[in-house]
Amino acid sequence: MAKIDRLALIGLGLIGGSLSLALKKNGLVGEVVGYSRQAQTRLRACELGLIDRSVDSVAEAVRGADVVFIATPVQAMAGVFQAMAASLAPHALVTDGGSVKGSVVAAAKAALSPAQWAQFVPGHPIAGTERSGPDAAFASLFINHRVILTPLPENSAALVTRAVALWTSVGAVVEQMDVQHHDHVLAATSHLPHLAAFGLVSALSRLEERYEVFRYAAGGFRDFTRIASSDPLMWRDICVANRDELLPMLDHYLDELLHLRRLIDASDYAGVEHLFCDAKAARDALYQPSVAHPS
Ligand code: NAP
Repeated sequence: MAKIDRLALIGLGLIGGSLSLALKKNGLVGEVVGYSRQAQTRLRACELGLIDRSVDSVAEAVRGADVVFIATPVQAMAGVFQAMAASLAPHALVTDGGSVKGSVVAAAKAALSPAQWAQFVPGHPIAGTERSGPDAAFASLFINHRVILTPLPENSAALVTRAVALWTSVGAVVEQMDVQHHDHVLAATSHLPHLAAFGLVSALSRLEERYEVFRYAAGGFRDFTRIASSDPLMWRDICVANRDELLPMLDHYLDELLHLRRLIDASDYAGVEHLFCDAKAARDALYQPSVAHPS
């Protein structure tokens, strides 16, 4: 990839900070100018070397930038698009890391001119941890992880090629799909599991005997609930923004749990075994060592 002269980073946490660190490590960026809502976050991002210079507004950050990367919570992106419209350079590639694509694309369309809209190539790295903020960022986050781009019909082939090159330059494996398909698939594989983990921990924490329950929590509980330690505000935004895809997926899961409940209530050993065997076979096949998967 040709070196980026100036990268504007909007949102200086795990995803934005990690992209910047990876580009810097690979010598692929001249200057990184960063904006984040809170002054203390901007300061910390400078201290950690995630950015070279912090500015006080989105407009200032994007002025003169060759690439603009938006890594705020998805609900904040509408305001970011509005704030950048007046100062975006016509040659700039604008892309993002938001976990939901439909709402972000709609926000961009509402805020940007048609020409600027064509500069936006939406994206979503399928990589992350349950940590957030500038201190969570690390340069190797995207290596061998998938990044899904959901290009718009208005994007030029050259611009999409630039977005692909941006991610492959930091070790990611890029795939492309349409916006609605992305939100459907991610509702199943990412948003529903987070809902299930938050929901389980919430339910148990309301039990009268919760202290005893948690005292005896073992490895399985820890594995299943790790993602309930993720940032609540970020996941609130994702779940509500993707409700059209998430709610049918949640209903499907609830139907399965109710089916399982009926089998257990009826002491249907064969039925329970059958369901568990099917689930184990599906899970085992998914994580065979020879098959490459995203996290
Ligand atoms: P994060 O660590 O919490 O970072 C988010 C950053 O956005 C923070 O620096 C926060 O700054 C800033 N911010 C919040 N509201 C803002 C606003 N209105 N204007 C400007 N900056 C604002 O979150 P993250 O994990 O990097 O996630 C960023 C994006 O990546 C999200 O859209 C998320 O859906 C997506 N994503 C996350 C993961 C994951 O596993 N974490 C994976 C893939 C994609 P302040 O401290 O200044 O408020």
